[in-house]
Amino acid sequence: MQQIIAISYEASILSSPIEYLKGVGPLKGDLLKKELNIFTFKDLLEHFPLRHIDKTKVTPILSIQPGMEYVQVVGSITSIAVLGEKRAKRLVARVRDKTGEMELVWFQGISWIQKSLEQGKAFLIYGRVGFFNGIPQINHPELEAYSPDKAGGKAFLEPVYPSTEKLKAKGLGGRQIGRLTYTLLSALKEADLAENLPEPYLQHFKFPSRFHSYQQIHFPSSEANYQKALARLKFEELFIAQLRLGLVRLQRHRYSKGVVFGQVGELFNTFYHKYLPFALTGAQKRVLKEIRQDMGQGRQMNRLLQGDVGSGKTMVALLSMLLAADNGYQSCLMAPTEILATQHFQGISGYLKEMPVEVALLTGSTKTAERRRILKGLQEGSIQMVIGTHALIEDAVQFHQLGLAVVDEQHRFGVAQRAKLWKKAVIPPHVLVMTATPIPRTLAMTAYGDLDYSIIDELPPGRKPITTVHRYDYHRARVMDFIRSEIDKGRQAYIIFPLIEESEKLSHENLMRGYENVKAFFPEPKFWISMVHGRQTTEVKDTNMQRFVQGDTQIMVSTTVIEVGVNVPNATVMVIESAEKFGLSQLHQLRGRVGRGSEQSFCILLTGQQLTNEGRERLKIMCATNDGFVIAEKDLELRGPGDIEGTRQSGMLNFKLANIVQDKQWLDAAKQFAQQLLEEDPSLDSAHNLRLKTFLQAQKGKLAWSKIS
Ligand code: ADP
Ligand code: MG
Repeated sequence: MQQIIAISYEASILSSPIEYLKGVGPLKGDLLKKELNIFTFKDLLEHFPLRHIDKTKVTPILSIQPGMEYVQVVGSITSIAVLGEKRAKRLVARVRDKTGEMELVWFQGISWIQKSLEQGKAFLIYGRVGFFNGIPQINHPELEAYSPDKAGGKAFLEPVYPSTEKLKAKGLGGRQIGRLTYTLLSALKEADLAENLPEPYLQHFKFPSRFHSYQQIHFPSSEANYQKALARLKFEELFIAQLRLGLVRLQRHRYSKGVVFGQVGELFNTFYHKYLPFALTGAQKRVLKEIRQDMGQGRQMNRLLQGDVGSGKTMVALLSMLLAADNGYQSCLMAPTEILATQHFQGISGYLKEMPVEVALLTGSTKTAERRRILKGLQEGSIQMVIGTHALIEDAVQFHQLGLAVVDEQHRFGVAQRAKLWKKAVIPPHVLVMTATPIPRTLAMTAYGDLDYSIIDELPPGRKPITTVHRYDYHRARVMDFIRSEIDKGRQAYIIFPLIEESEKLSHENLMRGYENVKAFFPEPKFWISMVHGRQTTEVKDTNMQRFVQGDTQIMVSTTVIEVGVNVPNATVMVIESAEKFGLSQLHQLRGRVGRGSEQSFCILLTGQQLTNEGRERLKIMCATNDGFVIAEKDLELRGPGDIEGTRQSGMLNFKLANIVQDKQWLDAAKQFAQQLLEEDPSLDSAHNLRLKTFLQAQKGKLAWSKIS
């Protein structure tokens, strides 16, 4: 009893509302909430410093060199002047120490700062230093009145916290936030930040205790201690996340019910031996085996299938769907666009045309009578496979026995939408999520750590790598000549225009101008051009797409609507206009529309001459490699984890201290330790894992602990 009270009391200190902290109060409390999302004591504790100022390290002005970043100087003010007018108005103070003179400059808050300066007074000055006319200069430095006795012996690193202009104006700048944090840390006891890592880990990594680490990360007693605390807290953050993901997966494996696809039957075997149009690649076979194993065990499969564009995911999906049918279950394949759903339907019905399997296509534009027929067939079970768009998740769609749901290009679907699909069966159907956006392994580990995961890392044989080149706008005529020569050989070409984010209208005008331009190079009736864009009705879009698929048109002019999945093996040229406007993964997706047949294919990236460094880097990477995983890693490096498509919603990437790119070695370690721990002690019952269990249990709502025995 005693202990229970103690625990709940302890837990409540860190969850106290921020306004209750001494020195905060309701007004400042409100500001901290609005400006920095600091609601509780814990939030303040996790508002980590940006950097520390070493109060003991004072640089003599004479030894300031170009190339130095932050410096700290002690100097007295020799002159104060307001120079310039209007926008150029600035406050300039000269300071000198025994060795030389430098300038401090302010562009904002001039009158306020002027009041705090005083000629002859000594200041401790800190900031980023630059040179102007050969004189060291700091813009908007941090200032503090300097008195030698106060500084003497007080050797510590002062934290600098992120703050906002609004907070600074109300007396809550980085330094004041530091004071609040100091107050908080002084009030905390060791038990408030009880150790959560197993003892052997602390010894292995020589980590400081949790309590000590929080003290040291805010107010380090030395640089070395700071680094140790930082490493420990980063590891802790990553390790707890990995452990959670592992536990969710374990729980699903152990406790989720799933339909059993116990047998490989007639349909699968007949198709495999009689109608499979090509031999499966090794990777396709391996993945299929993983899927079969998963679906035969009586628990729900929840598998992410990653395979680069053109790696043959559709066939894996189809074979899995045949397995479902063999076991008396229906399956569905959900695609993000109507074009793609239609193409899947045509492809799959083509493969199955000699097979006794009923396949239907259900999209937003399915006609009423047909729709009624399909809904009835699905409910009665006479239709075994249905392919479609979002239309599949509507309430009206009821299955007789849904056993497998395949989701193509999953990042287009929200989690909630997927959940709706799962609910269409009493026992949740097996789920196969396919994506052609290669996700870097580091990201997959965190963002999708709770899913099972298969990779097709081999392309079907005979594919020639796509040749990618970068050309400037003024090469356009030559590029068009090249397209003509390919068309003369009987091939087809895509010309893609960017969506201009700020304006749909501008995008459209841009596309239309491009279309006229292309038409001038390729006049009818020798050449025919399809155009697809977002303003067309579905019918028009489909007709245009269809004409290209059938080879009635040789050129497809389009915005990025064709990005995903479209399969025209005869197309050998992909021209991407304003290629610098596209992200790496999108460029890779687009390029994947060609190189699908046996002919050599080309991707031409057209740009203007003015390119940013990052834009240039992207083009360079595209020209250098066809490997989607390499591109994804580069994308992650260039853009950082926050921006990678399909992961934003995951919430697993919002680490406070760790950065999964820069701290990859800690991520690997965290994963390895979490895996080993769960193998040895999946219920966290052993003595040294108990505090970890207590810690996880105290973090409410994130994991159904009742299910972990
Ligand atoms: P993605 O993984 O991008 O969805 P698809 O499933 O559309 O790729 O396959 C791309 C092309 O490769 C299709 O034309 C398909 O018929 C063909 N394909 C798939 N698997 C093989 C294989 N094992 N051997 C030869 N061609 C294959
Ligand atoms: Mg596909």
